[in-house]
Amino acid sequence: MTDAILLGPPGAGKGTQARVLCNRYGYRQIATGDLLREHRAGGTDLGKSADAYMQRGDLVPDELIVRMVERELSGDRRVLFDGFPRTIAQAEALDALLSARGRGDAAALVLEIDRSLLEERLIGRWTNPRTGRVYHEKFAPPRVAGIDDDDGGPLVQREDDRPDTVRHRLAVYEAQTRPLVDYYASSGRLAKIDAGRPIDSVSKEIREALHLAEPSTA
Ligand code: ADP
Ligand code: ADP
Repeated sequence: MTDAILLGPPGAGKGTQARVLCNRYGYRQIATGDLLREHRAGGTDLGKSADAYMQRGDLVPDELIVRMVERELSGDRRVLFDGFPRTIAQAEALDALLSARGRGDAAALVLEIDRSLLEERLIGRWTNPRTGRVYHEKFAPPRVAGIDDDDGGPLVQREDDRPDTVRHRLAVYEAQTRPLVDYYASSGRLAKIDAGRPIDSVSKEIREALHLAEPSTA
């Protein structure tokens, strides 16, 4: 059982690909952005502490994030980390948490994409706030605009997907998260994925990098 990490800038397709991996290959998704949004909606102390950071597009402090992830880490299923770790301190904490539980090192995949594609992806993103499923008004539209295909509930646009916040989040990624590419490359557990291609092509490349079987067409 190998856990896996999806790295990449906002809009690269981490959530989209996580959904494919969980549906087809039985990974359990731990998406720190989704968990934080649930805490905010539920008005928990963590949600209140995280709110201002998220609105600005800054990272929530490491100790809050690591504690939240630790509470989620149980069970035997392999885990797919989506949007975590985002700093070197978080990556070191994750290595320690996994090894304390007798799990091997997680495999890291970085979704690489030209920056010019990201703004359009984020500005056209629509999300089901209850399930975290994402759509795109042009690239992955729901059957009926504004309505989730699965549960018929309303889709919303995230407040932090506004152009000014998007630009700040991309700068935060470059400064704080990009160094993780070297962190994982230097321990020989990084695969680079070309995330600028259509969703199915990206899924295929990820499947090959993780040595997963081709889904049956039956
Ligand atoms: P995206 O999918 O666009 O990359 P996320 O939904 O993962 O964005 O994250 C939204 C916001 O939640 C981030 O801008 C940040 O404020 C906070 N956040 C999510 N994950 C982390 C993390 N691992 N460390 C710090 N902050 C995080
Ligand atoms: P992340 O979790 O990395 O922030 P998402 O999975 O939420 O990224 O994708 C951002 C937006 O781009 C969503 O609207 C999604 O539907 C769309 N998207 C994801 N992957 C692709 C792709 N390969 N081609 C075109 N659009 C995509």
